[in-house]
Amino acid sequence: MPQEVLAQAASEMLDWPDTTGRRCGMGVMEMSHRGKEFMSICAHAESTLRSLLAIPEHFKILFMQGGGLAENAIVPMNLSALRAQPGHRGQTDFVLTGSWSQKSFLEAQRYSETHLAASAQACGFTDIPDPACWQIRPGASYVHICSNETIHGVEFHALPDLKSLGSDAALVVDFSSQVASRPMDWGHVGLAFGGAQKNLGPAGLTVVVVREDLLGHALAICPSAFNYQTVAANGSMYNTPPTYAIYMAGLVFDWLQRQGGIAAMEAKNIAKSQALYQAIDTSGLYVNRVHTDCRSRMNVPFFLRDEALNEAFLTGASAAGLLQLKGHKSVGGMRASLYNAMSLTGVQSLVAYMQDFEQRHA
Ligand code: PMP
Repeated sequence: MPQEVLAQAASEMLDWPDTTGRRCGMGVMEMSHRGKEFMSICAHAESTLRSLLAIPEHFKILFMQGGGLAENAIVPMNLSALRAQPGHRGQTDFVLTGSWSQKSFLEAQRYSETHLAASAQACGFTDIPDPACWQIRPGASYVHICSNETIHGVEFHALPDLKSLGSDAALVVDFSSQVASRPMDWGHVGLAFGGAQKNLGPAGLTVVVVREDLLGHALAICPSAFNYQTVAANGSMYNTPPTYAIYMAGLVFDWLQRQGGIAAMEAKNIAKSQALYQAIDTSGLYVNRVHTDCRSRMNVPFFLRDEALNEAFLTGASAAGLLQLKGHKSVGGMRASLYNAMSLTGVQSLVAYMQDFEQRHA
């Protein structure tokens, strides 16, 4: 979270001021979600997100709950029947590029006939299979990708154009750890979803952006609160939305605009990630095994060639104020997450520490 946003939220916590600065006598957590104050907060968050990400009018923005993992079930419950034959389960195709797309693939098996269009598992998730070689079924309702694999540090630097691959399937994108870090090509997208807790705000809010023509195909078993059409028809207020998380996300969206918008964030994210990859690639101690053309700008996993130094590396980092560098338990090593709120100075401090540590252990 940007410090500025936390400070603003703290100053408004007990008594929220509207855009004219007039205090309303209650904090955001105390408001009715249907009262005019919160309705204005929610509408502002939605319209700022739409303008920041240049989301076209024929896409709905839904504020939901349940996070990315819940969407792994909610997406097939809503979209798998799009192109299904009567009496048959819908077909859903997946591209495996790491742990998160793998989880999505496994969950969708409960609701649809799944199929692997491509997988990078054999190379240890260090590359993205060339879209030209994806085996997309002609009857697939959608193709699911994870645009940034948070654990393996693999990112799509361009979204695939399924039409040009000869497919009418919708593209579903898990953008949990990529959203708002760079512009998004909506022309290629049917639906995108993500938990807010990386680049958008605190945990508890899930953002879904869905093309209108994909609504209205939910399976009968889909809970009403998770039916995109119902959520859209009620302006994300079918059930009580995560009001405080929406308010905080709105403050983050305002902050992003003050930073110069998404193009400015992208430039900053390129600079941050390049500084770290360069330090890794020019060192004799650290290594990142992801193919250079799909390395993530948001999550940089790296390993110490001498794993016996891992604990000393983490202890020294923590003493230098560099926190949360331990890699995900499923892959080990280290991981630096460079979300929007991380500054270039923060990355430079990490690089300086890494170089110093390497010198001391050469
Ligand atoms: N997808 C991606 C790409 C993620 O990084 C995460 C969480 N780290 C998830 C899905 C799961 O999200 P949640 O914990 O919000 O369910």
